[in-house]
Amino acid sequence: MGSKDGSNVSRLLDDNERLLDRNEIVGLLNVVNGSEDFYSILCKADRLSRSEFNNRGIVFAQIGLNAEPCSVNCKFCSRGENHYSLDTS
Ligand code: SF4
Repeated sequence: MGSKDGSNVSRLLDDNERLLDRNEIVGLLNVVNGSEDFYSILCKADRLSRSEFNNRGIVFAQIGLNAEPCSVNCKFCSRGENHYSLDTS
């Protein structure tokens, strides 16, 4: 998947009748950030969450007392040690 495979992502996002299988989910998780497919996923997620929660949300904020690179390396998190975004000097 990724921006070269946009028709497959669009097909998956438009299919509201079944659960996605593991390979399809992994494919969506590997879509390149900033690509057309990436924004298609954000748009679909926004539409679904607004519909589900009637345009209401809760904002949570974290306060980190120690900011160290984390070995779990979640791709979305700026604290993952492979893509740590804070100054370590
Ligand atoms: S979300 Fe960030 S801090 Fe939490 S486990 Fe994943 S990489 Fe570590």
